[in-house]
This record gives sequence, structure tokens and C-alpha cells, in this order.
Amino acid sequence: PSAMREVYVEVPHVSWDDIGGLENAKQELIEAVEWPLKYPEIFSAISVKPPRGILLFGPPGTGKTLLAKAVASESEANFISIKGPELLSKYVGESERAIRETFRKAKQAAPTVIFFDEIDSIAPQRSSVSDTHVSERVVSQILTELDGVEELKDVIIVAATNRPDMVDPALLRPGRFDRLIYIKPPEKASREKIFEIHTQGKPLADDVNLSELADMTDGYVGADIEGICREAAMLALREVVTPGVSRYDIEKRAGEIRISKRHFERAI
Ligand code: ATP
Repeated sequence: PSAMREVYVEVPHVSWDDIGGLENAKQELIEAVEWPLKYPEIFSAISVKPPRGILLFGPPGTGKTLLAKAVASESEANFISIKGPELLSKYVGESERAIRETFRKAKQAAPTVIFFDEIDSIAPQRSSVSDTHVSERVVSQILTELDGVEELKDVIIVAATNRPDMVDPALLRPGRFDRLIYIKPPEKASREKIFEIHTQGKPLADDVNLSELADMTDGYVGADIEGICREAAMLALREVVTPGVSRYDIEKRAGEIRISKRHFERAI
């Protein structure tokens, strides 16, 4: 039995504008991924080696997956996403095979961004002794593949973790995942931008002030804000589509649904 689902090559449609804040991270990714994929000849002409692996680290829900998709999308590259836990198989040799298969597909579909989510999960788990050997084999297979993509300038590997302290140090040595980018929780201005992004296409009442909402949500990350916007829209919708309301009422009001300040306050 195969431990891993098929390796899917995707073409994501996420643009830089779909991501609020994180301007430094975007710029770093443009230079570390987009430029090498788009202009490999310039890098070789000036004898600069682009990074092979980039590690995005930061709290959950801050946009790491979104950034990886956006950089693939904006570089006109294909995208292969693999979650760390999927790579750990108890069947001997199965995990390595999955990694070889991932890189093979990536080369075939190049230019490609391979995204390893939850890369920390392939570090040996202290609780379970038997996992250790699988982890070692998985790490060493990834290292073999990383060394092999040196001449293949059109495959770039991006990894993400919430726990950089748990990532196998062998993966972080020079020439491996040696470019680390911190993905920080959004400040007020970024939260406002994220509110703007996730209320796009949703009619807002006049009493909604996105700057005020950004003030109220100190400590919230992008995923939280997206949830708030979705929930506020659902609250507005429920008011219209509710049992007992006549079809006439719904039809009359459907065109007038507005998310008001009250809905956001309840969603927060
Ligand atoms: P995890 O570590 O939990 O995998 P992550 O950092 O990869 O989280 P994402 O999956 O990229 O987070 O974010 C989840 C969702 O939250 C996104 O699909 C998006 O809707 C929203 N989101 C997160 N950050 C941002 C942001 N900076 N701008 C706009 N939307 C965001």
C-alpha cells in the first residue's frame, strides 16, 4: 500500500496583492525564488548561486502557505505541496520513494516550487524511538535531492514551520535550507490591509471602519481575520435567509445585504 497520496502538480493563482503586509518577506522571496527561476542566466553570468532551500518560520495562520503559493504563481512556476507528516511512512523505503517521486515530478514540470509544510515533523520525535530511523532516512533523502538540484536551477524548495527549534539541524546547514525568513504576526497597518483583502467583494455598511477593526484585533493573525470576515458575512446572510421570512422578503433584501459593524463585533 502506498503511504502517500499521488504527488499533485498545481498551478496556484495567488498574487502578492492577496497577501496583506509581510513586505520584507515578499521582497526576499522575489529575490530568492522569482529572480533565479526567471533569470537563471543572469545568476550564472555573475557567478551568484541562488539559495536552494528557503525556510519560512513563524506562528500558525500568518500566511506562510499563501506566500509559497504566491511566489510560485508570480514566478509562473508549478507548485507541489507536501506535508511533513505525509512523508513518514512505516513501510521501509516508502518515504524515500515518495521524496524521489516528488523531486522527479518537480523536475519534469519545471520551473517548480516544492513546498514542504510542517518540515519540523520529520525531525525525530522524542516520544517514539522507532520513528528515529525513518526521520534519518527521510532527511538524508531530502539532502541527496537538494544536492542533486544544484545544476537544476529551475526547482526551488520552500519549507515552512511553526517550530524552527524542532527542525533537524542537518537541514539548516549552508547549501541546504540556508535562507531563513521570519513570518511575523501582522501589525495594525497589515491587519487593516488583510481586512481589506477579505472584505473584497462583500458589501459593507457605512458604519464599518476597517482601521477601527484593525485596532480591535491586536494579536490576531491573517487566518483569524479571514475567519472574522467570513463569519460576519454569514451573520449578515442569516439575517436575510432565516426561517419564517417570506420568499418575497428574501428576494427584496438579497440585493441589499450589507455587513455592518455589529456583525464584525459579534464575529470578533
Ligand atoms: P499554518 O502554519 O497553520 O500552516 P500558515 O502560516 O501557512 O499557517 P496560511 O495557510 O497561509 O497560514 O493562512 C491561512 C489563511 O489565512 C490563508 O488562506 C488566508 O486566507 C489567511 N491569511 C493568513 N495570512 C494572511 C495575510 N498576510 N494576508 C491575507 N490573508 C492571510
